[in-house]
Amino acid sequence: MSDDPLKQSIQYVPGVGPHKAELLAKLSLFTVEDVLWFLPREVLDLTCIKQVADLEKDKLQTVRGTVVDIDARSLSQGRTLVAVLLDCDGDYLRGSWFNQIWMRTKFQPGDRVLFSGKPKRKSGRWEIGHPRVQWLNDDDPAAHGGFLPRYRLTEGLSMQAMRQIIARVIQEYLPLLPDHLPAAFREQHRLPALQQAIRQLHAPETAEQYDAGHRRLIFDDLLEFQLGLALRRRLWKTAGHAFRLPTTAKIDARIRRLFPFRFTAGQDQAIREITGDIAIATAMHRLLQADVGAGKTVVAIYAMLVAIAAGHQAVLMAPTEVLASQHWATIDAALKESRVGRLLLTGRLTAAERKQALQNIAENNVQLIIGTQAVIQQDVTFNNLGLVVIDEQHKFGVAQRGHFSKEDQVPHVLVMTATPIPRSLSLTQFGDLDITTITELPPGRQTVVTSRVRSAAARKKVWGFLRKHLRTGRQLYVVCPRVEENDSDRATELAGSAESVFTELQQTELENFRVGLVHGRLNRDEKADVMQQFRDGELQVLVSTTVIEVGVDVSNATLMVIQQAERFGLAQLHQLRGRISRGSYQGYCFLFSEADSPEAMKRLSTMEQTSNVFKIAEVDFELRGPGDVLGTKQHGELPLRVANLQTDQELLIEARQVAFELVASNQFDQPEFRALKVRVLERFGKLMDLPQSG
Ligand code: ADP
Ligand code: MG
Repeated sequence: MSDDPLKQSIQYVPGVGPHKAELLAKLSLFTVEDVLWFLPREVLDLTCIKQVADLEKDKLQTVRGTVVDIDARSLSQGRTLVAVLLDCDGDYLRGSWFNQIWMRTKFQPGDRVLFSGKPKRKSGRWEIGHPRVQWLNDDDPAAHGGFLPRYRLTEGLSMQAMRQIIARVIQEYLPLLPDHLPAAFREQHRLPALQQAIRQLHAPETAEQYDAGHRRLIFDDLLEFQLGLALRRRLWKTAGHAFRLPTTAKIDARIRRLFPFRFTAGQDQAIREITGDIAIATAMHRLLQADVGAGKTVVAIYAMLVAIAAGHQAVLMAPTEVLASQHWATIDAALKESRVGRLLLTGRLTAAERKQALQNIAENNVQLIIGTQAVIQQDVTFNNLGLVVIDEQHKFGVAQRGHFSKEDQVPHVLVMTATPIPRSLSLTQFGDLDITTITELPPGRQTVVTSRVRSAAARKKVWGFLRKHLRTGRQLYVVCPRVEENDSDRATELAGSAESVFTELQQTELENFRVGLVHGRLNRDEKADVMQQFRDGELQVLVSTTVIEVGVDVSNATLMVIQQAERFGLAQLHQLRGRISRGSYQGYCFLFSEADSPEAMKRLSTMEQTSNVFKIAEVDFELRGPGDVLGTKQHGELPLRVANLQTDQELLIEARQVAFELVASNQFDQPEFRALKVRVLERFGKLMDLPQSG
């Protein structure tokens, strides 16, 4: 057992004992210190509950009532409104939220709640815009003022018992808890001392005290995370040296001549940033984000050719074989006249071919290598790898990036993504990378005209329009959310399965047209066969699932119908629509949907209004929150304890700046920050691959 009283088992705190200690263990509370850090889920402010009759305009006040009605609706221009009506001892008050459609799901009629905010009089009734909400439970004392912390519980442990244990631990042990932030640093950033902050979170005397305590812990949370990223970045920058890959005017001219177009201003800027990075012996770690078709691959080719001109190898890794082959086609075409040794490494090579290929790479007979991440990371040994380009398309994964580092020689790394994410997410998910963004598309790209179509009558008209265009030679995708029919289809007139749409269309709207069907249950050859027929124009219409989302490029296909469009996420709708934005004819996309939930309406109207992928990413974030946008189910939760990326963006940016300055100036290595560094390494050392010495 440790001498440190904070590390003592909670069991020995007076009033706890072995039985309660067992229950606390279920909440991962083992030591006194664990309990000190067990923050309330919320703190009820019962100090200033007002009767509705006594409310004053525009002053911060709190009312208590019972939810009697929840209303969610769409307003013009894709905005949404959620209104929750409270019965407060016979008087009514409304809480309202604009563009926070998820609020609707948080309330149930009968909920006992507190609303805090600045009320206004609206059409004869009090209303609070965006109130702070606190839910009341049966075990809360009937409200006699004060602040009441509420904690996560486990079966057998009452709120009352939990409050007593925590109050006791705070009283006896909080004074022993050291602060990991130096006093001068705290002052500079207007942060309360740790003991004070924790006390104020559990038992504030005013709402301001609670907020100040909360801010300190959110800041700590974000600061530690950003310090981890800053350390990881410093590690990359200093762990080994990269080859210098300089760009001369001659090299620049020679590369540009390969392309039959002028680079866009965005591409030129990206090239300047990348060539600046790779010219020096400190490894580049840069993220290049832009919409599909914005010309990222072209920029990547440029960088790879610079590496090769400097006498080094360059590799491009794609997430799938289809995309690897596409990159290969683009690159092979651009390099028609060039002697650069190049190789497409796929899982389809025979054992003998593969062996030969690996040998050619190891002996530097080829300089430019393309393949999938899986194939390349298995067992390829490079000769003198200068640059790695990772095309993540719309996958995210921090994990694989460090893989190529070998001894003290590290390659420059460029990560490309076609699914931009909101700034607050990129500062965390990609927070150790420099970021280049291309916002414009090459000239001549057209915007797809997009309409949401609701009624059967309107759909009828659309089919007439589509038949007219099919007769002039254009081609059409009909995208469905599923392969087979299921129960949810019976609820609506609008079919959602590719199989039934395929059958139905041939008997109705598209009787005299050549219609094909493709979906993920077909085998590789069957799929390829149907796609080839569509590409050759033998099929005029392709009914499909989302298998066409990536890697399909038929420039004559400029028409798209999406069945049950509400079933798709925004990013996915945007990717799908991207299939018809490359042709030389005007593209038309029809979103068939009978759904009227405000969230679905918001998604569909966003598609109608914009094709800007960055705008779409922000709306997606607003609607779904960070976990869903990043798909963290596959990649683990963002390891933040207190902070919320949707609401704490300002603090995030401040914490990031502070963290990166601390590390860059080496101040973080001074003894006064030792305690903080220990915390950072404890929390993020493993996740971010940081050596324990920092
Ligand atoms: P991304 O990788 O971002 O999806 P690509 O680099 O594959 O985009 O480019 C998409 C298409 O646009 C390719 O056919 C490419 O040749 C073409 N392209 C790229 N840059 C330009 C440009 N500046 N002007 C005209 N066409 C371009
Ligand atoms: Mg591309």
